Amino acid sequence: MLDKLKSAVRNVPDFPEPGIQFKDITPILADHELMRFAVDTMAARWADAGITKVIGIESRGFLLGAMLAERMDVGFVPVRKMGKLPYTTLQETYDLEYGTDTIEMHIDALSDGDRVLIHDDVIATGGTAAASHRLVESAGAQLVGYCFLIELSFLKGRNLLDPSIPMQSLLDY
Ligand code: AMP
Repeated sequence: MLDKLKSAVRNVPDFPEPGIQFKDITPILADHELMRFAVDTMAARWADAGITKVIGIESRGFLLGAMLAERMDVGFVPVRKMGKLPYTTLQETYDLEYGTDTIEMHIDALSDGDRVLIHDDVIATGGTAAASHRLVESAGAQLVGYCFLIELSFLKGRNLLDPSIPMQSLLDY
């Protein structure tokens, strides 16, 4: 089934820019059995971790992230690009190849006792996930794990993450 999941990921060369091999997960979303398999496999890994909130990173991290939270019987928290969330936010800025980017989370989205799982569809350079970890810490909550559908391991994004925190990725490129 993992092979089937991997074959469903569509590689789109030169999107959104020349040189990027974009991993398109919409064929997985279009197949309810693959979607269920992906969510079940991710949820099973964290079943005994005492997670209380799943964070999904804008925007494709919202799709399976919200399903994962529902499957795990916990709440979902969106982390969004600057200026999209309506209420007061915490913010973190991180480096891109050229310039910087800022992500935000609502100030009351997490509380002290929360045990958090960060989810995104793809980990590339790791910058967004690392900044999301800092958001969790600013909120006074505890990061318990990182959970990605796809890891672009040739980009070594793992190296930007906290090595003491377990990381799951279902598909490796
Ligand atoms: P990162 O470089 O790990 O901070 O990735 C930033 C964001 O861009 C993540 O939310 C990914 O979903 C997305 N992303 C980066 N590279 C790709 C790619 N090759 N295909 C699809 N999404 C990507």
